[in-house]
Amino acid sequence: MSCRTCSHPLTLSLAPDSSSESSAGPSTTTTTTETVPDDLLLPCTCHFHWQCLLDHSPTIALSLRCPACDTHLPTPSDPPTIPATYTSEGGPSALDLLPILTEEAFLASNPEARPARALHTLAAEGDVEGMVDLLGDVEEDVVRWRDPLNGGRTALHVAVEAGREEVVWLLLWVGSGVEEGRFPEVVVQLAGEMGVGRGEGVGEDVRGLRDGAGRVAGEVARGMGGAWGGLAEVLTL
Ligand SMILES: [Zn+2]
Ligand SMILES: [Zn+2]
Repeated sequence: MSCRTCSHPLTLSLAPDSSSESSAGPSTTTTTTETVPDDLLLPCTCHFHWQCLLDHSPTIALSLRCPACDTHLPTPSDPPTIPATYTSEGGPSALDLLPILTEEAFLASNPEARPARALHTLAAEGDVEGMVDLLGDVEEDVVRWRDPLNGGRTALHVAVEAGREEVVWLLLWVGSGVEEGRFPEVVVQLAGEMGVGRGEGVGEDVRGLRDGAGRVAGEVARGMGGAWGGLAEVLTL
């Protein structure tokens, strides 16, 4: 079986492990290239390498057809899905290709949105350190970016919905006029250690940004109740 795009076998060659090369000693001429499965099976039964199919995502996201056999791929369900099976090193796993293709197609035509999408992913995962690294690297205003693929949510909406309290405080630190005295001490300390400055005055206060449904993050927090009721107050402009 081979890939319907490039005709090569459905495996992926891993680069030789660099850590084993660093060991001193006489160099040997035997290079063992390890291969792992890289087999994406579409509902039409065509197989592709993962990257070979994603390279077609702008076209597929529009046509919703297999680039090899032209079969219409989505299920008739509501919402539609493209059920696929991807077999890699860890064995086969089932997945829905539709959101992945949509995101890839979006990023292919909006490459500038890549860092902002990455920030949203980190916010949902609660990865504060990763967010600080990213914020230090980009010049765009990713903090106020609204995600068209996720109902126009900002990173603050995402963090509140995912219940990531630390992320909420980080976003308030860099994107709001909340007085320093209202932040938990541990947050102020962490910001100091990580060299994160306040970004007030740079742009609109993140607490006032609305998602596609017209909700500010404070309303989302209020709807979550419990401990988030307290945060909702801080989140209210
Ligand atoms: Zn291929
Ligand atoms: Zn096909």
